Amino acid sequence: MKLHEYQSKQIFSRYGVPIPKGRVAATADEARTIAAELGGRVVIKSQVLVGGRGKAGGIRLAKNPHDAEEVATQILAMEIKGLPVRKVLVDEAASISKEIYLGITNDRAARKPVMMASAEGGVEIEEVARKTPEKIIKIHIDPLLGLRDYQARDIAAGIDLPREHWKAFLQVARGLWQAYSECDSTLAEINPLVITGDNRLIALDGKMVLDDNALFRHPDLADLRDLDVEAPAEVEARKYGLTFIKLDGNIGCMVNGAGLAMTTMDIIKLFGGEPANFLDIGGGAGADKVAAALRIILSDPNVKTVLFNVFGGITRCDEVARGILAAMEDVQPSVPMVIRLVGTNAEEGRQLLADAKMITAETLVNAAKKAVAVAKA
Ligand code: GDP
Ligand code: MN
Repeated sequence: MKLHEYQSKQIFSRYGVPIPKGRVAATADEARTIAAELGGRVVIKSQVLVGGRGKAGGIRLAKNPHDAEEVATQILAMEIKGLPVRKVLVDEAASISKEIYLGITNDRAARKPVMMASAEGGVEIEEVARKTPEKIIKIHIDPLLGLRDYQARDIAAGIDLPREHWKAFLQVARGLWQAYSECDSTLAEINPLVITGDNRLIALDGKMVLDDNALFRHPDLADLRDLDVEAPAEVEARKYGLTFIKLDGNIGCMVNGAGLAMTTMDIIKLFGGEPANFLDIGGGAGADKVAAALRIILSDPNVKTVLFNVFGGITRCDEVARGILAAMEDVQPSVPMVIRLVGTNAEEGRQLLADAKMITAETLVNAAKKAVAVAKA
């Protein structure tokens, strides 16, 4: 789960990282009020979950509250990389004398978190990484020991940070590490970390990505999810504990088990079809879950057929079949269903479905062929 800049910075601030004064606004009117409270120049920053907002014109300075209202009106009407801007952060403007990059992510190859820093931070950091990777200093962190002060000093030295800023830098680096590890993040990044005109160190931008699989340990962070920016079908799927990812094809997939779901998609492609989604309904799914999944799949107008691929293990196939029938009753789908059931009580299950005039198949190969044929017809 990606967090917005304003959310990430608030978290950083709790761990002792200095951030500019400011608040988030959903209307231009609020933006003016906040600018008036802050006094002086402000920066109006679009809150969208993509990088490169600055280059896209989504970060602009305003000299006074009136100006802030005007700039906010314009930014709130923008779309950045396809995402509508629904909120802006109004921060007191900083005078910048240097922009530093500081971030932590997981290095899978090293099996450790890695802290990265560069004296050439700012909007061109991707260019720096591509053209002059030696300008990015990396230090691996032992997750059990945490970031050691000597490591933070090595980074400060590595980016030629003037001595007078080392104390403040150590505090920022420690805070960022704590935020990263305590929130179960996969990314915590400050770009730019600036040295201001009056020689302070402040995090002007912030970005965090949290590990979805650890969110159950952080109900407060889970609440930060911005439902506005997520696909409605994915929001709905999460509500029912379904794993759902929309794809571009026309064969809906209803499968129990992630591995089986991937196999199903592969076989559909093998026979020349295209899956409309990935969906794992999980084990022991009852009629209500099957119905929810079916509604979600059918909300995609591209879907021409739905392929059920269910392996009955502990769950008995006749129960699954009853679940499917109850779901059909509830949803009343207008496209044909192709159903492959195997495992415990498969015969009984298939019989129930065949009686209800559904296309059934015993093998996945046959089921996939039938679904591809129906989708092409
Ligand atoms: P990003 O483009 O999405 O990474 O957004 P950032 O928050 O990093 O802003 C992009 C750039 O805008 C920064 O690198 C700064 O150069 C500039 N910027 C952001 N905030 C301020 C500010 O308060 N004052 C000034 N002068 N520039 C700012
Ligand atoms: Mn940035």
